[in-house]
Amino acid sequence: MIKLNKKQDCSGCHACANVCPKQCISMKSDNEGFCYPQIYKDKCINCNLCEKVCPIINIPNKVDDKITAYACKNIDNKTRNVSSSGGVFSLLCDYVISQKGIVFGAVFDENFNVKHIYVEELKGCERFRGSKYVQSKIGDTYTKAKKFLDNGKIVLFSGTPCQISGLDSFLMKKYENLIMVDVACHGVPSPLVYKKYIESLEEKNRSKVSRLSFRDKSTGWSKYSFIVDFKDGKKIKEIGSDNIYMRGFLSDIYLRPSCYDCRFKKPITSADITLADYWGIQNIHQEFDDDKGVSLVLVNTKKGQDILEKISSNMKVIKTDIEYAMENNPYIVGSVKYNKNRDKFFKLIEKEDLESSIIKSITNTFIQKVKCKIRSSLGKIKRIIIK
Ligand SMILES: Cc1cc2nc3c(=O)[nH]c(=O)nc-3n(C[C@H](O)[C@H](O)[C@H](O)COP(=O)(O)OP(=O)(O)OC[C@H]3O[C@@H](n4cnc5c(N)ncnc54)[C@H](O)[C@@H]3O)c2cc1C
Repeated sequence: MIKLNKKQDCSGCHACANVCPKQCISMKSDNEGFCYPQIYKDKCINCNLCEKVCPIINIPNKVDDKITAYACKNIDNKTRNVSSSGGVFSLLCDYVISQKGIVFGAVFDENFNVKHIYVEELKGCERFRGSKYVQSKIGDTYTKAKKFLDNGKIVLFSGTPCQISGLDSFLMKKYENLIMVDVACHGVPSPLVYKKYIESLEEKNRSKVSRLSFRDKSTGWSKYSFIVDFKDGKKIKEIGSDNIYMRGFLSDIYLRPSCYDCRFKKPITSADITLADYWGIQNIHQEFDDDKGVSLVLVNTKKGQDILEKISSNMKVIKTDIEYAMENNPYIVGSVKYNKNRDKFFKLIEKEDLESSIIKSITNTFIQKVKCKIRSSLGKIKRIIIK
């Protein structure tokens, strides 16, 4: 039976809960809002399938074909505009749906919680567009995907690298009709913090949220905006780096514990294709950059290459230097650093409002500021002495 020694050893992928033949594992939220398996021992038959499919216990040992990197833009600007980077994921959806396949990905539900669902028609795929910066709940989607695969349907499954490794592990065999796509991942924020944020927005604005975009491009792709529309017609629009939720997210104070030591960074991957933002594109393919979003597409397998060729007539594509692309996108290969204020933050939100808890946890204290100043002055003195 699966045993969790420390929280860092669970990415919350739901593989164990999906595989249990007795349904004796359920995923329960902890006090930080992240899901962990809870086992009802009375029902357990000690089949150990839960351990067998855990992608952290059995890290995928992928010695794969060489990874190839491309800069890609969907030629349909309308779609690219509402996607987070170059709108490549929508092209993959178009292809799979045209083959009467099924697409799995992350959407907002009616209360703006983020969860995985599947879609069989092109219309529904619009909900997948755009990065939602919170951990998406996998639920029973691995089980559903397996049923479609066993019935011979083409399945496109997208998610964070841990979710895709979880699926791969859960399936326990390779399916020719499965396309696995992961998104490069900074780390996933707490669903509890996100929920508190939505509640505080609704309370302050005395209206329910009707639309949310973490990465609106109306102020540019590099200087994206955070947008919220409310049911009563009000609207909030802030530059992403000014938005309090994004500031907390990018300061790494409320990511899942496993994200600080993510086991699914490149070159380990189960995915056929990895989608990322091509940060730094302006310095290497200047003519390609129009500040409307370019995807960095990493092709990890032969299947991934075949699929990319199938959608390439609807994209502008150039082969690119993988080393350069990775240097500009550090979280494709490495984990974020643990923020020492993380514990303080989770204690603060128990008694204070979210905004002030974030501000207190991301702002350097006076002592920290003094220490930084001393360190940087010492660095300058050292450099002068060396010269
Ligand atoms: C939490 C998170 C962190 C990220 N961190 C980075 C990063 O550090 N560097 C980088 O280059 N790119 C990162 N990305 C990926 C990037 O923002 C784009 O999603 C990616 O480039 C695809 O863009 P697109 O234009 O092709 O498609 P889009 O249509 O914008 O992408 C939508 C895809 O993202 C998936 N998705 C959206 N939200 C979630 C979620 N919460 N969980 C799982 N899957 C989700 C959808 O299922 C769909 O497959 C991150 C994405 C997420 C969700």
